[in-house]
Amino acid sequence: MVQIKRVGVIGAGQMGTGIAHVAALGGYEVLLHDVSRERIDAGLETVKRNLSRQVVRGMIDQSAMDAALQHITPAEELQQVGGADLAIEAATEDEQVKKTIFKALGPHLGPKTLLASNTSSISITRLASATDRPEKFIGLHFMNPAPIMKLVEIIRGIATDAETYDTAVAFAQSLGKSTANSEDFPAFIVNRILVPMINEAIYTLYEGVGTVEAIDTAMRLGANHPMGPLELGDFIGLDTVLSIMNVLYDGLSDSKYRPCPLLVKYVEAGWLGRKAGRGFYDYRGETPVPTR
Ligand code: NAD
Repeated sequence: MVQIKRVGVIGAGQMGTGIAHVAALGGYEVLLHDVSRERIDAGLETVKRNLSRQVVRGMIDQSAMDAALQHITPAEELQQVGGADLAIEAATEDEQVKKTIFKALGPHLGPKTLLASNTSSISITRLASATDRPEKFIGLHFMNPAPIMKLVEIIRGIATDAETYDTAVAFAQSLGKSTANSEDFPAFIVNRILVPMINEAIYTLYEGVGTVEAIDTAMRLGANHPMGPLELGDFIGLDTVLSIMNVLYDGLSDSKYRPCPLLVKYVEAGWLGRKAGRGFYDYRGETPVPTR
């Protein structure tokens, strides 16, 4: 297995910050990169806030929080991430964005550096083919929020070698996570099942079968889901939900995966959910209020 000490994280959004958080708590040196220093700093603030919450809840102690923060270094230049033993890409769910990152990172990578993507849906084999090392490329799909959720889905591309796989599983387990293997098909296991359900909930709203509140209450109390599907869509990010539906629709050529036009409209409006302050709910006040 490859010895992992330094972990590069590319993308300091919801997932990148969560991955940096768990890796730093796990004792790894973390390099956190995004498109600008402002984004990285905002990401570091998120990590700090989330670690503090864990201290308040008694999940970790203050010294663990302090040590974790010491372990995270901002990396303004993408090339700094090339020095990591494992570089995890957690940028926007857009194939072109991800491929561009891997192309730019390539010349700066150490010969043994492993590459991973946290993509929710895009083919690992295709992303790997945009790199010089498909055998060292793997899908490491953390769930949101990464510090809380127990699962990491592991996805091997067609060329991923056994050493990369064993190292990835050991890395996820060292963070206290359980793993589930998925074959490399559109949206893997969790999102193949979860995201069409969210899309269906949006159709239910679009067709007037129920209101936002009725749909979420029905699924919370009627199916015992901890969050209603519209609330969950807002939590994931509606741009990400739409991207995953498009990957399913294009990748499986089946009309049952067509994205709901209402989902498209919310994304076009920039109402992307919690991260944008507005989605199926408006989060800008004290309590979330349905937006239709
Ligand atoms: P996000 O919108 O919160 O963050 C994306 C970040 O990527 C932003 O900070 C953006 O500035 C950055 N970025 C964009 N282009 C970049 C580039 N060229 N170089 C460096 N950084 C760049 O999105 P997110 O929810 O954190 O999702 C990130 C990835 O994780 C996606 O692939 C998504 O599918 C996956 N994912 C999301 C969830 C979820 O519930 N949101 C769960 C699991 C996996």
